[in-house]
Amino acid sequence: MKTPLKPPFDSAGKLSSAGSRPAFPVQLNSGKGNSFATKTVAAAARATSNNGGNGQNDLKKPFQPGASDGFGLDSAVRARMVRRLAEQGVLDARVLAAMGAVQRHHFVDTALANMAYEDTSLPIGFGQTISKPSVVARMLELLQQGLTDASGRLGRVLEIGTGCGYQAAVLSHLATEVYSMERLRGLHDKARENLRPLRLANVHLLFGDGMHGFAKGAPYAAIIAAAGGEAIPPAWTEQLAVGGRLVAPLQDASGAQALAVIDRTPQGIRQTLLEAVHFVPLKSGIG
Ligand code: SAH
Repeated sequence: MKTPLKPPFDSAGKLSSAGSRPAFPVQLNSGKGNSFATKTVAAAARATSNNGGNGQNDLKKPFQPGASDGFGLDSAVRARMVRRLAEQGVLDARVLAAMGAVQRHHFVDTALANMAYEDTSLPIGFGQTISKPSVVARMLELLQQGLTDASGRLGRVLEIGTGCGYQAAVLSHLATEVYSMERLRGLHDKARENLRPLRLANVHLLFGDGMHGFAKGAPYAAIIAAAGGEAIPPAWTEQLAVGGRLVAPLQDASGAQALAVIDRTPQGIRQTLLEAVHFVPLKSGIG
């Protein structure tokens, strides 16, 4: 059962929410349901053929914010990114649609906007980076695969490491509620600014140390971390619902990171280590 959550506290300046959000419905992609992928792939194909078959010119052109929302150039280039994700093995249609719906170029500096749909991580300031699209999609697909709810939609999700807010925006299309926590005030503020125009009523930004999770929102159907430490903080597994899944980078003794999938089953915790990844470090405290 979902219990309504009060806005997170900020009396001690330790943890605060993005403030009350208007009760607008979540703004979804401009296409409807499954037709979105089909439409955007078709648009991408058109863009490709206009450029002698490789579509590279589209990626080099700077975006003009506001000039092309929906089915313009940015939509075509994003569709191209989605098609590449599918080619790389991301099969989950919901994840692909969510990746296609969020304008990644709005989350990075204007100077980097022309690289926003390349499969590359990009700096977001404060020494942090936005993960590359294939890693975001991979982690979200792992969450979807762990889903035990027949609705196909993730329930409440906790994200550790809001960064610029991009992944939180993608998650808003997959989950009923997204609680996203960031330890750096500057990035928390930046994410709030980036997300404000999207009016995603189900995204709640929290400022605080994610090592402690966010008990008020627990239990979570899923927890996803964008920063890796040497161990999974106990609070995370405690706040994971039975039947829930956690995906996070985990560092071994040599400092190498691998993607860890942790399932909380009625029988206990089950951990699987997957491929090598490179995430920024999980740090304690706030800054
Ligand atoms: N998902 C983000 C990626 C951000 S990079 C995006 O889409 O932009 C990882 C982020 O984790 C950084 O912003 C870093 O400051 C944050 N981080 C590291 N340790 C943290 C902690 N203990 N609690 C909350 N955030 C943390």
